[in-house]
Amino acid sequence: KILLVSLFVAYLSNKWTAPTFDAESLRGARVLVTGASTGIGEQMAYHYARFGAQIVITARREKVLQQVAEKCLSFGAQKALYISADMANESDPDKVVDFALEKFGGLDYLVLNHIGPTPYSMWEGDVEHTRWLMKVNFFSYVQMAWRALNALEQSKGSLVVVSSLLGKISTPFAAPYTSTKFALNGFFGTLQHELSMKKSNVSISICTLGLIDTDSAMEKVRGIIDAPAYPATEAALNIISTGATRQPELFYPWFTYIVNLIKDWFPSITNYVIQNSFKYIP
Ligand code: NDP
Repeated sequence: KILLVSLFVAYLSNKWTAPTFDAESLRGARVLVTGASTGIGEQMAYHYARFGAQIVITARREKVLQQVAEKCLSFGAQKALYISADMANESDPDKVVDFALEKFGGLDYLVLNHIGPTPYSMWEGDVEHTRWLMKVNFFSYVQMAWRALNALEQSKGSLVVVSSLLGKISTPFAAPYTSTKFALNGFFGTLQHELSMKKSNVSISICTLGLIDTDSAMEKVRGIIDAPAYPATEAALNIISTGATRQPELFYPWFTYIVNLIKDWFPSITNYVIQNSFKYIP
């Protein structure tokens, strides 16, 4: 109990020392959000819109993007543009960044959030799917970050990377997805150090999320794991405020911070709990 209370206090002291989020700072901000046709990305688009930002949203389905962009305008976005792109395609990540730079003449926030669909099941040796998912969930992030870096440097901008608790801890049924999230944490963690050593103007925020109630996530875990799912709109707001206050990390919900801290202290217990939390009939 004492240990848990101390960890919770450690979490709160981290939170309390963070600067306060000022939504006004986003009025007129030039924002590019990926994976914004559904889920957390869509919710982020609506929050940015309410804060009066100028946004470009992207995903594959153009018709859905168009509807989200229309809603963004009705919520108060100064501009809401969309461009369809498939992040598995080698030229699309650059195309999307170039579109935003051309339309806005610069960029203040690059929010990398998209993920490709992937099965939630035991890995059965599908190497090709793993390679494809690395392209969508990892290489396109690297490519877009590099393409936007100069513009972000000029605007003292922020790069926001949406990752997962599964980028910190391995659990069953998500080997390709987990690999892409570990890769993101490794790559952008390194970039955080390097930009800081170079005294760059660009901040990088890496966001660790637990289970969030998006349709795609709920459909995957149904009948397999019984865990509380947290609201996408609140996750989206937390990601936005973390980027706007230039914090290096977000843990949402709060207990993901604790899980991440203690997983290496008690590996056997952690593994026991993980393996017994998933329904599996051999
Ligand atoms: P969704 O599955 O709801 O949304 C994924 C988005 O990515 C959609 O807009 C989809 O649109 C787009 N997308 C899919 N494939 C491609 C592609 N090949 N090229 C371009 N865009 C693509 O995801 P969530 O909202 O649930 O997750 C958002 C982020 O949060 C992800 O980074 C995820 O890892 C992270 N996260 C989510 C958790 C959760 O429980 N929901 C938990 C932990 C982290 P379209 O189909 O139109 O292309």
